[in-house]
Amino acid sequence: MPSETVNETNNPLKELRYKSDAGELILEDVGEIVVFLSLSFRSMVKWTAKKFGSGSSMIWYNIGKASASPLVEVLQKRKGVETQEELIKRLDSYATILGWGYVETTIFDSQEKKAVIRVTNSLLTRGKNEGLECHFLRGYLSGLYDMIFETHTFCEEALCKNMGANHCEFHVRTR
Ligand SMILES: [Zn+2]
Repeated sequence: MPSETVNETNNPLKELRYKSDAGELILEDVGEIVVFLSLSFRSMVKWTAKKFGSGSSMIWYNIGKASASPLVEVLQKRKGVETQEELIKRLDSYATILGWGYVETTIFDSQEKKAVIRVTNSLLTRGKNEGLECHFLRGYLSGLYDMIFETHTFCEEALCKNMGANHCEFHVRTR
């Protein structure tokens, strides 16, 4: 496990508000969120792999991209008040605290438009190892960086814990 602890000033759990009449959980400035079992998430990925074989990687990559795209408005607002480095740190903290694994952006190059994101204990690699890779995270990161770098990006998973590595590592670059 990584030695560094997460920046508690970026703890989204402290900003959560529950609207009991509507059955909604609100994260200030971001929108409403839903808490979902990671077990169920892995089950969805496994089902898709069983049903569609290798085609499921493309499905989950694009689902990841589609999940990131509604964040454009939120990110635009943040980009006005934060440096890109602060924004990246906040996104790392959010993902980590919300349970996606320990997320660290180890390389962020806004000139070259390149980034490397390390995820230790990715939620897709927990439980029984069934040889799945983290295509959803790959797509999600590409979607995020399309907005951050303001161009089309591609993300590949260079290392995956499900393929025997110690952690997962994602490389984002322009297409
Ligand atoms: Zn992985």
